[in-house]
Amino acid sequence: RDEQISTIKAAIEEKNIRFIVLQLTDIMGASKSIILPVSQIEKILSNETMFDGSSIDGFARIEESDMYLYPDLSTFLVLPWKACNGYSIARIICDVYSPNEEPFEGCPRQVLRKALEEAKGMGYEFYVGPEPEFYIFDRDEKGNAILENNDKAGYFDMAPLDKGEEVREHISLALEEAGFEVEAAHHECGPGQHEIDFKYADALSTADNIMTFKYIVRKIADDLGLFASFMPKPVEGIAGSGMHLNMSLFKDGKNIFFDPDAKNSLSDEAVHFIGGLLKHSKAITAVTNPIVNSYKRLVPGYEAPVYIAWSHKNRSPLVRVPAKRGTSTRVELRSPDPACNPYLALAVVLKAGLDGIKNKIEPPKSIAGNIYDMDLEERLEKSIDSLPISLYEAIEELAKSDTVKGALGKHVTEKFISAKLDEWDSYRKAVHSWEIEEYLKAH
Ligand code: GLU
Ligand code: MG
Ligand code: MG
Repeated sequence: RDEQISTIKAAIEEKNIRFIVLQLTDIMGASKSIILPVSQIEKILSNETMFDGSSIDGFARIEESDMYLYPDLSTFLVLPWKACNGYSIARIICDVYSPNEEPFEGCPRQVLRKALEEAKGMGYEFYVGPEPEFYIFDRDEKGNAILENNDKAGYFDMAPLDKGEEVREHISLALEEAGFEVEAAHHECGPGQHEIDFKYADALSTADNIMTFKYIVRKIADDLGLFASFMPKPVEGIAGSGMHLNMSLFKDGKNIFFDPDAKNSLSDEAVHFIGGLLKHSKAITAVTNPIVNSYKRLVPGYEAPVYIAWSHKNRSPLVRVPAKRGTSTRVELRSPDPACNPYLALAVVLKAGLDGIKNKIEPPKSIAGNIYDMDLEERLEKSIDSLPISLYEAIEELAKSDTVKGALGKHVTEKFISAKLDEWDSYRKAVHSWEIEEYLKAH
């Protein structure tokens, strides 16, 4: 810690840092921050920064609202852009503590830490590589985001068709400057849709990285007069944006999903992990796909999963095992979308997988064909069930699942369910343009 503190202090001098952004994530997955002048650095480093928890969604009631930010010094980052007068800004991600110096159970980072501790108790380190997708849209003359862009390209297209290429280069450079190892950046299927993959890491770092990634993507697009959106299905009729999670467990520095002697070189742990994911898939969906709009993405025909199944190749199922073996052996969960709170999402998928390992849950047979092409009868015959089709159904599944509720803890479960029911209610009462179109004249 002393070493980290001296590195931070040296950076403050060297890089002329004038502000420190203390960053946290609320239960709904929104980034929150407090910006302090660097003169407050001693207070920041001694965990004395206080904030009003009641003003953050789902955190605390007015009566017990004093919360403390404990900066995780390993997340210190000089942001890849400058403040107004050319000064640098640094940010540190924080854990939230209550006044009696206990970790706050409503802090999503805390929820993930707990799940990781359980894995550690079994000897496992959880590694995750995300594949976030997003759209870049234009703004109108007033600066408001519009659902248009001058990009007509599709998957893996090259410039000059790909107008997004330049934006993506700017974003990738900023990410690299911020310490990301960008592994691939490419155009996705939709016009204006992109994917930038960065190197896998331990789950806590990955969740932090996802929050930082979204921050950087939005900021750079904004600086270019554009607008980046991580909404799961912004435009009807074209591909939605997912955030597939590639997961593996390591023990003593070795990827234990790989077993050269087993069938398909997949270890029992890997197979049971998949069993757990599939078993709990309906209940984890509320967390991995947390908004009304998430369910407009989970429909057939757009490479987003709809059915609860796994496969070695095909992209239609929920879980895919990419062909790579050895250290890269991994299980890809394809349902999550980038609107999720990554801390909570990684906590619930880990607990689902660990439950599979503990209880040796065998997944159903893997599916080779394209499930989108099967009719209902064929799916029933193969007992292929579907993911929840609405936020409401997903919340009901969550409410029934002790595994998922256990992963979230009581505080987060209650706040999450009540906020999501409110969201559902507000949606349910709205009359949508589709209904007007279909019914106004017909009835
Ligand atoms: N955009 C697709 C989704 O919604 C995924 C496409 C891909 O396989 O990368 O999940
Ligand atoms: Mg993709
Ligand atoms: Mg993928």
